[in-house]
Amino acid sequence: MDEQSYGPWTLESMASAIGHSLPRAVDIREVGPRDGLQLERKLTLDQKIRMIDGLVAAGVRRIEATSFVSPTAVPALADAPELAKELVRWPEVDFCVLVAGVGGAKRALAAGITHLEYVISASESHAKANAGKTMAESIEAGEQIIKMVHEAGGICEVIIAIAFDCPFEGPTPASRVADIVKALVKAGADRICLGDTIGTATPDRVIALVQAVRDQAPGHSIGLHLHNTRDTALANVLAALMLGVTDFDAAIGGLGGCPFAPGASGNLSTEDLTNFLEDMGIRTGLNTSALKQISAEVANFVGHDLSAAMTKVEPRIGFTYAANQNLVHTQH
Ligand code: ZN
Repeated sequence: MDEQSYGPWTLESMASAIGHSLPRAVDIREVGPRDGLQLERKLTLDQKIRMIDGLVAAGVRRIEATSFVSPTAVPALADAPELAKELVRWPEVDFCVLVAGVGGAKRALAAGITHLEYVISASESHAKANAGKTMAESIEAGEQIIKMVHEAGGICEVIIAIAFDCPFEGPTPASRVADIVKALVKAGADRICLGDTIGTATPDRVIALVQAVRDQAPGHSIGLHLHNTRDTALANVLAALMLGVTDFDAAIGGLGGCPFAPGASGNLSTEDLTNFLEDMGIRTGLNTSALKQISAEVANFVGHDLSAAMTKVEPRIGFTYAANQNLVHTQH
């Protein structure tokens, strides 16, 4: 192996070598109140309001608030209509809710929510377990939901669950994910998000899948929803950044799991992602210390410690928020 081919590199030059520059800013969507809480003991409405309040105070401006799915399947989120009424408290926040079918979408729209996120599984077994439908039926439902949301003047995002691996069937072919994206982009999907639902993705497969999907969704934002089950989430973020991806989901404290995906554990944590990006000079608009505060409160609400690394440590000495770093650059 020719050692000279290994350097000298910077992150920026590595990113530009594959045709992109590293993003200057990243848009983090907080999914703690939905993905994070769905397997936890049921929080009270007041606790959920406090959670969102703390997240907003830490700078979060995009939040997946809840889901409109079967209250018997996900009792922790059965108060979705009540929580939906409270969201007017935070006019600065772009809230979305998750739906898995036409019935849920109708209920969400009736509750006044206009930003919906339709989750579709990329395998027959998971589609059956998660939504009780075949994949073909799920695509049809997606087409119908996108139409309904647009008629109501809203935005419909599509999130593809188990985009990398299925807990029942193994590897998900990238071509299958690309086909789903193609069909739902044609139907008018406004955004696309790829879900590593069981946390098995590694950087090589993130790069391959993002590229495969982008070809089917020109001009669309491709987001990533990563779980940190095998401690690969931040490595996957770095790979995606080098492809110019700027939309990432994360949950406060690393909360989360999937009731229909055995073995799935926590989401990539918001405070770890924020620390990682801000330390590299990539703006998030979020404040790690404020995130740590609300993370500690949420740990009390759910009654157990949270897995995020930053719950135990502070940002390094000499750490500067990316916005300040950029300010320094522009002054020179
Ligand atoms: Zn998830």
